[in-house]
Amino acid sequence: MMFFVYNLSIYSPKNKACKELNDFIVQFNHILIKDECSLDALRCSIEAKINEINSAHPKLRPIRYDWNESLMRIDASIKAGSGCPDYLFVMDVCCVQSVFQFSEANSQANAIATLGICRVCGCTENDPCYHPDHSTCWWADEEHTICSHCADPDIANDPITEHCINSKGGHHEK
Ligand SMILES: [Zn+2]
Ligand SMILES: [Zn+2]
Repeated sequence: MMFFVYNLSIYSPKNKACKELNDFIVQFNHILIKDECSLDALRCSIEAKINEINSAHPKLRPIRYDWNESLMRIDASIKAGSGCPDYLFVMDVCCVQSVFQFSEANSQANAIATLGICRVCGCTENDPCYHPDHSTCWWADEEHTICSHCADPDIANDPITEHCINSKGGHHEK
């Protein structure tokens, strides 16, 4: 699963520490995040940066890092007295559902590819294709929309290639 930073609202800095954080966070606007592990790493590096800024400015009000799992939102704020907190930035992340890609070879129906499902044969991580010489298939593209056994014409056109061995129940189960 890939992710995308679709919104990054940065508010005018209240002090030097806020300015430092704003200058750091701006680089993450509209970025594509390759997988869950990378999203975790991004969250950790933002949290680490906030901790670093806080310890460099011990006399200023500490910046608070927050991650809201259900909203998929990272934010940083400063608690201002008893009132509501002042936000420094709000970053909204969403899951990338599919990739739209123009393709001469495929029909229009295949132009939207769902990540993690081969757009040609429909195989997935848990339902791969099989060829005796090449074993099970692997992803042929970074987005995980086409498998090796469909992308390579030699394997794809070989009649002994079996696609989606679990759901289509090839000779392994017969
Ligand atoms: Zn395939
Ligand atoms: Zn496959």
